[in-house]
Amino acid sequence: MSVIRFNALKQTQDRVPVKIKNTQRASEIFGKNVFNEDAMRQFLTREAFKSVMDAIESGKKIDRKIADQVAVGMKDWALSKGATHYTHWFQPLTGTTAEKHDAFFEPIGNGRAIEKFGGIELVQQESDASSFPNGGIRNTFEARGYTAWDPTSPAFIYGTALCIPTIFVSYTGEALDNKAPLLKALYAIDVAATDVCKYFDKNVTKVNANLGWEQEYFLIDTALAESRPDIILTGRTLLGHPPAKGQQLDDHYFGSIPSRVVSYMRDLENECLLLGIPVKTRHNEGAPNQYELAPMYEEANLAVDHNSLLMDVMEKVAQRHKFKVLLHEKPFVGINGSGKHNNWSLSTNTGVNLLSPSKTPMKNLQFLTFFINTIKAVYDYEELIRAEIASASNDHRLGANEAPPAIISVFIGTQLSNVLDELENVTKGKLSPEEKTDLKLNIVGKIPEILLDNTDRNRTSPFAFTGNKFELRAVGSSDNCAGAMTVLNTIVAKQLREFKKEVDLLVEEKGLKKDEAIFNILREYIKASKNIRFEGNGYGEEWEKEAKKRGLSNNKTTPEALKAKISEKVLNLYEEMDVMSRKEVKARYEIELEKYVKRIQIEGRVIGDIARNHIIPTAIRYQNTLIKNVKGLKGIFEEDFKKYAKEQLGLIKEISEHIANINSSINEMTEERKKANKLSGQKAADTYCKKVKPYFDKIRYHCDKLEIMVDDELWPLTKYREMLFTK
Ligand code: ADP
Ligand code: MG
Repeated sequence: MSVIRFNALKQTQDRVPVKIKNTQRASEIFGKNVFNEDAMRQFLTREAFKSVMDAIESGKKIDRKIADQVAVGMKDWALSKGATHYTHWFQPLTGTTAEKHDAFFEPIGNGRAIEKFGGIELVQQESDASSFPNGGIRNTFEARGYTAWDPTSPAFIYGTALCIPTIFVSYTGEALDNKAPLLKALYAIDVAATDVCKYFDKNVTKVNANLGWEQEYFLIDTALAESRPDIILTGRTLLGHPPAKGQQLDDHYFGSIPSRVVSYMRDLENECLLLGIPVKTRHNEGAPNQYELAPMYEEANLAVDHNSLLMDVMEKVAQRHKFKVLLHEKPFVGINGSGKHNNWSLSTNTGVNLLSPSKTPMKNLQFLTFFINTIKAVYDYEELIRAEIASASNDHRLGANEAPPAIISVFIGTQLSNVLDELENVTKGKLSPEEKTDLKLNIVGKIPEILLDNTDRNRTSPFAFTGNKFELRAVGSSDNCAGAMTVLNTIVAKQLREFKKEVDLLVEEKGLKKDEAIFNILREYIKASKNIRFEGNGYGEEWEKEAKKRGLSNNKTTPEALKAKISEKVLNLYEEMDVMSRKEVKARYEIELEKYVKRIQIEGRVIGDIARNHIIPTAIRYQNTLIKNVKGLKGIFEEDFKKYAKEQLGLIKEISEHIANINSSINEMTEERKKANKLSGQKAADTYCKKVKPYFDKIRYHCDKLEIMVDDELWPLTKYREMLFTK
């Protein structure tokens, strides 16, 4: 075994679980490091407290004088918790989070100093926009950007820094982050959904979008991960033969969690609880060394912040436990990849989940209204949803017969399918009293509160209704949920706005009663959006054919998918809903293309380097051993030697062939890369996708063949079977 591999494996054998000291109950530590309502009550003036609460509940602006008061309270609270620094915490378009720490400490002359933090520091900070992706928005002569406080997500202490959630915009006001458009989309859905709710309940004055994410991830021992240049540089294995035993036996899902991992999870959960992330569920996932963590759902903005924070916390805690967290969507071939299911629902300030069926027919008509409008929105913008979740790493799931497919469809279960089928046949225009009664009692009134067949969920559906929420399963495990949430809330907002207009028109111009009008419009929507509904197996070839007939998009790669982001239809959507300007949308499209190109470029370089520097030399060493052996046999057996050296000679030849193939593929790939590098934007991405990326598989094929031929003692890279079965 190579020295690196030997040492790495040896290190892992000596590992014992890190002891977790915390014996406090979860409820005791929950939110301890968050400037939440309790902390605000204690540290803020009554006036400041009220002002922040108003901002959270109804988006009211906080004026500068009050901001000063809030800052003082926040600082006192943070100092009481041992914080020494503060930072605006934001989510630039790199996909991760960003922070820049400043000390509270400030010298005031005469050798004295104070702790200072005022309204100015709280509300707005300057940041260098040129160091973050901006898709050409930033003018070269004006590199400034600003971060601005988002009072709807509470400040928290992480390490020794007070973190203040902020949005990040350019000097000219364009969004440069994930949060700014999300907040606008959440505002749009609030307004549109509240308007529609008024048909059913005049007391509704606010609608919140909720998000409950489920984060999947892999854990690999640090020493093993670090022995693999591909994992370190690209987050995934570019080479490696699948082990003889993978997940065929289905023995990992919900299996007992190894003690080292449990210890990590407990530590992670404690950290999450302190930060106010309401973690609830942990379990093994389908693949070996794959796990999942899920919290209680929350208001979408907060949930997005919590997921972004979580991804950071996961890595930091993992370091203590000598684990590396892999959030990549497909770190290993041959076993499951990782996603991040986004469970989404809408709820009112009167405490009603708008996507939950209930007992009374009227409430159920409200449920159907939101349910059907969501389906219609997804139908109209399926291609945008696919575009939003596109990334080089998520392509391994969406475009490759793995959960879920690249075709966006909606699964609703048999019971609700039947309800929609019946509603579709409702008479157009005015309804007779008998018809109305029949509808209310026998169709709408019959939707059971608990939908039985939703326990039997269709795991192959990218967008499934699961009883009282929709679950978007196509989001990548490393992605920021903000993108998907911005799209979903924007398209449903637009759809609800349209719906309201159409219903009002029928009432005003055709003299229909309100509920008649609602039935009429819903009926049309059911018909119009039928093609997006699919209850079958989403991975089958049949579905690909069927989906094509239905006119649904099937964009398997990121460059293909991204085009939908800048279609006229999408640009108009964002503009109309006041979520993003055309310039902002186009900038994001450029950023995504560039990210794709860079990632494939890096992967290409890394696979080339490993194949040349690690694999070929190792293969040659082994081949030399064989040659020596053959020569020895010749010395012993003379003319007869071919009889005894037959296998060895075959291997020698085979190794040479693999080496030749690897070498020529790397040369060709490098040539293609050079050509691609002369291009930009969509063309560069297309070329990288179609001309460069296919070589990865070719190179890998030959390297993996060599892995199973070459003496295990010589093989330099830690193997799948060594990485994937943590005890
Ligand atoms: P799974 O999909 O793995 O079977 P569950 O369906 O139990 O798991 O729920 C997973 C996620 O759904 C959790 O994050 C949970 O908070 C979230 N969730 C539950 N109810 C809602 C809701 N009404 N709105 C949004 N998310 C929800
Ligand atoms: Mg789920």
